[in-house]
Amino acid sequence: VKVVALAGGTGAAKFLRGLVDVMPAADLTIVGNTGDDLEMWGLAISPDLDTVAYTLAGLVDEAKGWGVKHDSFSCRDAMAALELPTYFALGDRDLAVHLHRSERLRAGEPLSQVTGDLARRLRLGCRLIPMSDQRVATEIETPGGWLSFQEFFVRERCRPAVLGVRYVGAEQAAPAPGVIEAVLAAERVIICPSNPVSSIGPILAVAPIRRALAATRATVVGVSPIVGRAPVSGPAGKMMEARGVEVSAVGVAELYREWLDALLVDRGDADLAPRIAEHGVRALPTEIIMRDHAAEVELARAVLDVAL
Ligand code: GDP
Repeated sequence: VKVVALAGGTGAAKFLRGLVDVMPAADLTIVGNTGDDLEMWGLAISPDLDTVAYTLAGLVDEAKGWGVKHDSFSCRDAMAALELPTYFALGDRDLAVHLHRSERLRAGEPLSQVTGDLARRLRLGCRLIPMSDQRVATEIETPGGWLSFQEFFVRERCRPAVLGVRYVGAEQAAPAPGVIEAVLAAERVIICPSNPVSSIGPILAVAPIRRALAATRATVVGVSPIVGRAPVSGPAGKMMEARGVEVSAVGVAELYREWLDALLVDRGDADLAPRIAEHGVRALPTEIIMRDHAAEVELARAVLDVAL
């Protein structure tokens, strides 16, 4: 079965680690969010692509959920001593990927080619494609003005109120090569348990991707990142409120309603099924918290097993 997964960072990566245990990686195409990419120290940083790649490669720092395990931060310390920006943490080993990516982008290669090559070097087995080779920048409106996603997320630690969210450049952005073909050829499209506004939102903001999702004959299955009235982690709640949807699996279904066939929700949210059905989405209560690798695998199997 050919599968396409729309993915953010940490939540998606855990799920995908389970998924490659229950299906041939060669049949999987991951479309990754680049809306929270940034530049620092002259380096091109793609946090979500790297979180997915490091996790699938077994290199991720498990405690943090991002970065390289057993990494050191000497470079960052030296930057701090020079009073240079260090709010976004890049470990010393992590620099290798960033130096390499930045060099190739500077030479004019598209991000999709650099990412595909990195996926091969890390022996992921699946395809990892950024949603677009063009810059799409997620920005968060706060009482103090618009912030880049990482200024909000890392520098301000998600503290400011969220008044709005925009995806600068998304309407003009073209999907990266292979994205549309993969969506149209897929038998299953998975919307990973990711932040619907800052991780999946930017992917859906690219118009041809939205059209391909509407046109595909694949069954589109999502996993709710919201349990009860709160996200499992992170600022998805504030961002969904800013988008005017309820912070619950119902709100997730509403955001994805144009494309989604089924949504895996927490067992405790089974009573939301009729309201989710109003959005044309079938709610499937199951265990959606990934406490350990066995739970990641079980959740992946449940997503593949959905039959409509
Ligand atoms: P980010 O770019 O690192 O924020 O990555 P994602 O958007 O992929 O992941 C964050 C989202 O994953 C948050 O909205 C969480 O609520 C959700 N999440 C994290 N862990 C779990 C889990 O175990 N189960 C489910 N269902 N969602 C999770």
